[in-house]
Amino acid sequence: MKVKFWGVRGSVPSPLTGYEVREKIINAIQMSPVEALCGEDIETFLEDTPFYKTSTYGGNTSCVEVVCCGDERFIFDMGTGLRELGNSLMKEMFDSKGIKVNFFLSHVHWDHIQGLPFYSPLYINKELGIKNRWTFYGGTDWQRKAEICLQGQMDPPNFPVSWAEIFKMTYEIKFEGVYDRMQIGRSRANLTTRKLNHPQETYGYRMVEHGGSGVVLAYTTDNEPFDPLEPDPRLLELADQADVWITDCQYTQDQYNGKRNAGGVPRHGWGHSYDIAVAKTAVMAKVKTVVLFHHDPMSDDQRIFDMQHKVEALIQQMGGNSKVVAAHEGLEIILE
Ligand SMILES: [Zn+2]
Ligand SMILES: [Zn+2]
Repeated sequence: MKVKFWGVRGSVPSPLTGYEVREKIINAIQMSPVEALCGEDIETFLEDTPFYKTSTYGGNTSCVEVVCCGDERFIFDMGTGLRELGNSLMKEMFDSKGIKVNFFLSHVHWDHIQGLPFYSPLYINKELGIKNRWTFYGGTDWQRKAEICLQGQMDPPNFPVSWAEIFKMTYEIKFEGVYDRMQIGRSRANLTTRKLNHPQETYGYRMVEHGGSGVVLAYTTDNEPFDPLEPDPRLLELADQADVWITDCQYTQDQYNGKRNAGGVPRHGWGHSYDIAVAKTAVMAKVKTVVLFHHDPMSDDQRIFDMQHKVEALIQQMGGNSKVVAAHEGLEIILE
C-alpha cells in the first residue's frame, strides 16, 4: 500500500507568506557552515536541519491518495491538494486511456471538496477515447448533498464549467451513499465506516488491504473527542492496531480550551481533535504509526513540528510506543 499526502491543512488553504520564506532563508544561511553552501553538502545540510526551518508542511487542504492491492486508487477527501494530485495523474490517464478513482469523502465542508473543480482529469472528454471512471462515496443522503455541494460549487456564477457539462463529457460518474457501520466489500480492499463527532455528517474509514488480510489504514479527520482520556469507541474500532492512523490533530489542548497564551478563543464544539486525545487513542488502539493531519491554519511550521514532539512525549508517558509523524505535502508512506 502506498499512501501519499497532497493536502494536510484543515479549514482553509493557508500557504506560506513571502515573509515566512525569507525567514527560512535567513535561518538556513545562519545555520549553514560555509562548505555546505556549495556542492552536494547542501542536501546533507538540509537533511540534518529541523524540518520546519528549511521546508514547510504545506498550505493545501485535506487530500490523501492511497494505491493498494496493486493498482486500485483511492482518494480520501478532495481539498485543494487534489489539484496537484490530478496533474500527477494526467500521463497515466492518457497512457492507459482512462483511470478509475474511488473518492471517499469524510464530509462536504469546503476544505474537503474545493479541489474538485481544479482536478484536471475531470475535464478530459470521453470523445477523445478516454474512459475515466469516478465513484464518489459520501454521507447517507449524499445524492442530495452532491447536488447542493458538488454541483453548487461548480455551477455558474460560482464557477465557469457546470456540473452538467462534466457529466456529459465523462465516461462514468457514480455516487454511493455511506452510513455508519457500512462494510464496503470490495474485491481487493475492504472498507468499514463509523460516524464521527463533527458539526456535519462525517465518516471515518478503516481500510484493510488484500480482502481483509493485509495492512490496515485508518482515516479519521474532523472529529472532536467527548473526553480526551476516554476515547470514543467508534474511533478505537477504526484505529484498532492500524499500521497507519491518519487523524485530525488540529489543536494543542491549550488552544482547544482557549488558554490566553494559545489564542484565547475556546474551540469547543468546532469538531476537531487535539494532542492529548490523539495520544490516548493511539496508545489504547495500539496504533503502529499515527499521522497528525488537518493542521490548523493558525499553526506555523514550528508549531506543527512542536506538536509532533508533544504527542510523541505524551504517548511515551502513557506507556505506548506508536511512532508519530506530522503529515506534510509530498509525504509518502509505503506499507508492506
Ligand atoms: Zn476539515
Ligand atoms: Zn469539517
